[in-house]
Amino acid sequence: MSLNAVRPKILGFISEDVSAWLVALLVLLVGGILTGLLAWSTLNLFHQQLRQRFQLLASERYSRIEERFEDQEQRLDGVRRFFANSNSVSRQEFDGYTQPLLHRTQAYSFARRVSHAERPEFERQVREEGLPDFTIRDLMPNGQLQLAAERDEYVPVLFSQTHTTIGSPLGFDLLAQPLRRATLERADASGDMAVSQPLHLISTEPSYARGVLLVAPVISRSSPGAAAAKPYGYVMAVISMRQLLADGLPEADRDYLSVRILDLSNGDQHEVLFESLNTPATSELSASRLLRMADHDYQIDILPSEAFMKANHSSVTSLVVLGSLLSVLLSALLYVLVSQRQRALKTVEQRTQELRARDQELRGTHGQLRGVLDAATQVAIIATDLRGVISTFNAGAEQMLGYTSAQAVGHMTLENLHLPRELIARSAELSARYGKPIPTCQAMLVEGGEEGGHEAREWTLLRSDGSHLTVNMLATPVLDEQGLWVGHLAICIDITERKRVHEALAARDLLLKKLSAHVPGGIYQIKMEFDGRFSVIYASDGIREIYELEPEVLLLNAEAMFTRIHPQDTTRIRASIRASADNLSPWREEYRVQLPMRGLRWVRGEATPEELPGGGVLWHGYISDITDLKRVEEELRALSVTDSLTGIHNRRYFQERLTTEMARVERGGGELSVIMLDIDHFKRINDHHGHAVGDRVLQAVCERIGHRLRRSDVFCRLGGEEFMVLCPDIDGKQAHVLALELWQGLRNSPIDEVGIVTASFGIASWRVGEGADGLLLRADSGVYAAKQAGRDRVESEMD
Ligand code: GH3
Ligand code: MG
Ligand code: MG
Repeated sequence: MSLNAVRPKILGFISEDVSAWLVALLVLLVGGILTGLLAWSTLNLFHQQLRQRFQLLASERYSRIEERFEDQEQRLDGVRRFFANSNSVSRQEFDGYTQPLLHRTQAYSFARRVSHAERPEFERQVREEGLPDFTIRDLMPNGQLQLAAERDEYVPVLFSQTHTTIGSPLGFDLLAQPLRRATLERADASGDMAVSQPLHLISTEPSYARGVLLVAPVISRSSPGAAAAKPYGYVMAVISMRQLLADGLPEADRDYLSVRILDLSNGDQHEVLFESLNTPATSELSASRLLRMADHDYQIDILPSEAFMKANHSSVTSLVVLGSLLSVLLSALLYVLVSQRQRALKTVEQRTQELRARDQELRGTHGQLRGVLDAATQVAIIATDLRGVISTFNAGAEQMLGYTSAQAVGHMTLENLHLPRELIARSAELSARYGKPIPTCQAMLVEGGEEGGHEAREWTLLRSDGSHLTVNMLATPVLDEQGLWVGHLAICIDITERKRVHEALAARDLLLKKLSAHVPGGIYQIKMEFDGRFSVIYASDGIREIYELEPEVLLLNAEAMFTRIHPQDTTRIRASIRASADNLSPWREEYRVQLPMRGLRWVRGEATPEELPGGGVLWHGYISDITDLKRVEEELRALSVTDSLTGIHNRRYFQERLTTEMARVERGGGELSVIMLDIDHFKRINDHHGHAVGDRVLQAVCERIGHRLRRSDVFCRLGGEEFMVLCPDIDGKQAHVLALELWQGLRNSPIDEVGIVTASFGIASWRVGEGADGLLLRADSGVYAAKQAGRDRVESEMD
């Protein structure tokens, strides 16, 4: 089954194959979009809340302003009614009434209508009331009040209640000033309150100077038909817009609202009557309402201030930052999750493939093992469990033992296959060794200890037909992967044939041993390796006699043999062996051996070489002791070169020695001389004393000559009564001296019965380029010359 088919999806929806980067990017994108949407809705909500709060504040502010406007109207109306309801109001009464009302109002005034005719009286009355400087005055362009001009009618300010101490507006004729006059006229016309257009208030502090005049006509009740008549006077409230509106509000920098009041009375030119000191914030928020005071409309514009905006800042930025952060974190988390998961799955896949490969390998190995088991028809392979019950019985086992695998596996034990008496014997042996009972079922499995490790052991197995089979069995424990013992493995090789061959070989060895024991000398096989090393392959017991070495020693060390050979013969023997190896020629040598017990012995070796495929040579040979033979030979040899009558060397020996010595001097120079002698008139001795006496004379002469010679001189009887002395290393002169000694010695010692016997001597010393014949001829010539000269003398060397 494909691994992909069973792969779960990450978090239930992300495919495993999708790149971790892509997932992270998608999550980041979705997170961004969600954050954007949330920010957008939050911003909307914020704007909505902002608008609501602003509206609330604006309404509240508007209500307050409206209330203040109405309050001004009501209070002025009170003042009006105060005048209307009394016939005369004194200055003290006016002050007493209006004093408490001076709240958010600059001043309350009363102005009375005075005609031109009444002016002087009026001014006088007022002066008498305590205002000595009182006159009706006009407002000059420079803002100063001056004595009023003559006019039909005046409306001078009579009472004025104010907090300020700046000047006094008393006497100021309202009619003289157009704006105030227009206001009075409108009040007259409506019979109700009228409000002036914005004007510059007099007798007020400059900062509060801009304002309006609220005027209410006072119609005296006491005068009947007053309704139709012009008002008796006017009460006025001097209103500074700043005082009216700003009073009681928070300070400019804390005020959330920025208020502006426009006067709408003057056509298009709407004068700003009041404006908050704080700056309006840049915002779409605004509220605008119309407010009426008396006969005038005012527009109230309310805008949020910077303070309002500050106090109501949006949390969208934080939200966006938080949302972005969360998105990044989430995408990073998913990246890590997906990539780790992918790595883990890749590892799992890799491990799975490795496992499959190993499984395949294992199957292959198992198959190979099965094949090997079945192919090994010459080897019985039997595996058992721990109880000994057979679990594997290969083709070789079937063939060897006659049971089928089906018969053996699960039904038979290894013990069933063994010969019981062997098992019992082995069990008893092992029990004795280990000091505890070893059951027969384990006797074939327990290591003997003496072999050390797992060694094959010979066992007799029982075939299915009851016949016996001799095998070599190697039993080893079978361990599982954890090293636990799970059974045994027995490998058996049929050694019946091997054993038979072995026995046959042993019989032949015995035969060879017996045969060689009856042969004098030793039989051997020796091998020379290609590098010249020798090894003894076989050595019969006879070799022990030859070299006084044990055959076993020679098998281990062939060189020991050479240590026995006489030093003078060693080089020759090695050379001849080498030559035999080089030419593959039969080797035959007679040589001496120096033995520890029997001393010097002569032996003869003969061997036939055979070239070995590897480059060596193998000799099959025979060595015998020839010491006795050698001794006989020596004796025969001595006899062959000895003169039987005199006991000195004979002519053959002389010839041999002469040849040798000649070869020596011809090869390397040196000296060589011969002295020849012939007994004088020997025929007469025979004739006179008989042949036997003649023989004794010959012996006596040899004795007399012989004991005057050096060991190196060779004394020979050439035949009859002729003798020759071979003198190596002496020249002619020395030979002459020696010859004289011999001559003298002979003639000075008479021989029994015969008396003095003399001889004639000839000398010859070897000359370069001269052969043996030439040398002997010159010696012989010397003897002849001595005979001729009268005998009994030594003849000097002939030229
Ligand atoms: P010359 O002085 O000239 O040498 O005279 P000669 O008699 O010695 O020489 P000749 O050759 O005529 O004689 C040698 C004799 O030596 C002849 C021979 O019978 C004798 N003779 C040779 N061999 C033997 C021997 O073995 N024993 C005896 N008793 N006589 C021998
Ligand atoms: Mg003679
Ligand atoms: Mg002679």
